Amino acid sequence: MPLGFLKSVRDQASRSANAGKPAAGSGGGQALPERATVLSDVETLGIGMFWATDAQGRLSFLSQRALDDLGFTAEELFGKPVSQVFTDIDPEPGAPQQRAIGFKIKAHSRIEEHVIAVTAAKARSAECATRWWRLNGRPMTDAAGNFLGYRGSAVDITSQYAHEMQVARQSQVDELTGLANRRKLGERLTATLAAFRASQRSCALMMLDLDRFKHVNDTMGHPAGDELLKQVAERLKSIVKDAGEVGRLGGDEFQVLLPDMDDRGTLGELANRIVQSLSQPYQINGRRAIIGTSVGIAIAPYDGVTADELTRAADMALYAAKDSRGGTFCFFTTELRDAASKSAQLGERLRDAVDRGELSLAYQPLVDPSNNEVRCFEALLRWHDGEEGAISPADFIPVAENDDLILRIGEMALRQACSDAMQWPETIHVAVNVSAKQFVRPGFRKTVATALEVSGLPPQRLELEITESVFVGDLETVDLVFRDLKKLGVRLALDDFGTGYSSLAYLKNGHFDKIKIDQSFVRGCTENGDINPAIITAIVALAKALGMETVAEGVEAMDELELVRDRGADLVQGYVYSPAISQEQVQGALAEGRMKVTPSGPPRHRAERISIFRKVGLIHEDHYYDVILRNLSKTGARINGLAGVPVGTDVVLDLGHGQLVVSKVVNASENSQGLKFETPLISDGSGGFMTRHRISPYSLAEAGIPLAALGAGAFPLAKWREANKSSPKFVQLELSVPNH
Ligand code: C2E
Ligand code: CA
Ligand code: CA
Repeated sequence: MPLGFLKSVRDQASRSANAGKPAAGSGGGQALPERATVLSDVETLGIGMFWATDAQGRLSFLSQRALDDLGFTAEELFGKPVSQVFTDIDPEPGAPQQRAIGFKIKAHSRIEEHVIAVTAAKARSAECATRWWRLNGRPMTDAAGNFLGYRGSAVDITSQYAHEMQVARQSQVDELTGLANRRKLGERLTATLAAFRASQRSCALMMLDLDRFKHVNDTMGHPAGDELLKQVAERLKSIVKDAGEVGRLGGDEFQVLLPDMDDRGTLGELANRIVQSLSQPYQINGRRAIIGTSVGIAIAPYDGVTADELTRAADMALYAAKDSRGGTFCFFTTELRDAASKSAQLGERLRDAVDRGELSLAYQPLVDPSNNEVRCFEALLRWHDGEEGAISPADFIPVAENDDLILRIGEMALRQACSDAMQWPETIHVAVNVSAKQFVRPGFRKTVATALEVSGLPPQRLELEITESVFVGDLETVDLVFRDLKKLGVRLALDDFGTGYSSLAYLKNGHFDKIKIDQSFVRGCTENGDINPAIITAIVALAKALGMETVAEGVEAMDELELVRDRGADLVQGYVYSPAISQEQVQGALAEGRMKVTPSGPPRHRAERISIFRKVGLIHEDHYYDVILRNLSKTGARINGLAGVPVGTDVVLDLGHGQLVVSKVVNASENSQGLKFETPLISDGSGGFMTRHRISPYSLAEAGIPLAALGAGAFPLAKWREANKSSPKFVQLELSVPNH
């Protein structure tokens, strides 16, 4: 209703403003007095207001009605810089972005439909202290083009504006994707947890953050970014279906709320499907883009009882997933709580180490298995920290990738490796790992060219090892970097093939000279029923068809060597030939004319065991013992610390964090026992194992322990343990956890 009328008021205002413009001449055919009455009616009826400034931008006129409303006299306001009277509003979520009013006035720009705030002098309550006006105004100039000041109109939109803002605040949907928004998700989570607490139900929370979304946004533009987010939302909905509620928190962050879900096996599978699905290529305006995603998972009441606690836990798990390499999921554990600060400390120390030149390179040979001749050495970073001892590049490279440190480290590795390789026979190549972050930075080609130039290494002797994670963001840009590098003449190897984003699409573009089959396919490939040999055969065949060399990584046992050789791998890298050795050792070996390495290792692969040496608990009958966990696999464990435990004993292993594993002693020596688990553990998504279910804080609460998220170690069982003081059946030995 009022819009048309307001428009006419505005037109009126600008016409009247024009009337003030000397060059524009007189005010049309209308009689001046009549016009003055109409305008004054407009003012007094509160339909519109007028304002004007002088050439210095100071307020020189404001309708009486407006002054009355604000509770100011003309003397109080006139003469003040108008940008002090009309101030910018706090940008509310959902409000359109506009340039600062002060900026426009200084620039003498036209003011159109600009919403500003005006502070009233005598407010009856705090709420009406601020009025919102929609401003229009024109800069006036004289015939010579000199700025004379503004003439303009204003409409008070306070009530409408406040309403709109309230609507925006109360809105439950994310406009772009149609998913639940942050507000709704927060309310839903709080309500769900409160309700579930009473009925002792569980609820999982997944936090998602897209990897490299910013890159797509920056290189392909915001509309493309928006389109991508919509497609991500669709994929998420189609995976989660009715199992839970998907929402967008803002930016590239999504959340999934999964009621009645505490099976970490099922959750891991779901997270894995999400990671796989979101990392498939997207079509956006005829261009292809690839992103990845990281997922953090926390489960109420185990990891948090309140919405806040659970959200923080899921967030921490998300950071951990992102830190590990992206494209993965991670469950919350109490250890993660201080991981963030630890990583910050590591970053500091790493920076110092780089400054002091404490990083060095070690070289691991890549060997032709048909004749055991060394063809190449891969340069691997080594850092010996004074406090912590040797720190693995798998731990510090991700930290370096958080900032520009990776560029310095990468450049140093390139230069050092090229100059070291100059000391080797000409037939031997050198391979250098390149982080995806480093690869996509402008200037990477230059870094490589300089390293070659300074060292004098022929380009074809340098191989750059790149992982699939470079294929995210704008693929056109990535393509350009590849072409630049090819022009330089260096060789390119696709590292860790088969992990992470796993798409064969980028093999076909012919960028790579070599594929490195990831260790995870090689290790244990000789075990019965393993499908990995078939995968290795397929990768080798594919590589051959596309004219690429293959390398089998992480070969440790003799039977693995035999298998990968039989399956046609061109090169083998692994402990079966040699771990990484120093440049001195390389030169020493080469000086003796030894270009050959004799393989040696265990005859057969042994089921993967993680050596952990940590204190855990063991429950037998009504006794709780402390034991040391020596080895952990999916199906069993080896423990130390008890004597006199017969084979066949049923026990419960307490792995901490509420993880109780029903087990049987299957073999026993003097002070060490092998346990077999009743149900196997599941993979935690980052190389470790965990139980599918945990002891519920609800059941602990029933036993009189206050309801709280699970703590580390065996804490919740401490009470139970105190209460049970009958004589133990086994001898508890003194425990010491070896340092390593
Ligand atoms: P990668 O590129 O997959 O390197 C191979 C890793 O597997 C090395 O671990 C190597 O020591 C290990 N390895 C080789 N053979 C065997 C085996 O038979 N059994 C087992 N268990 N392991 C084996 P390392 O040196 O800890 O490096 C870990 C990762 O750190 C590398 O994985 C690479 O991604 C990264 N990295 C190392 N140096 C650099 C570097 O200069 N720049 C960048 N960006 N990343 C690097
Ligand atoms: Ca590598
Ligand atoms: Ca590798």
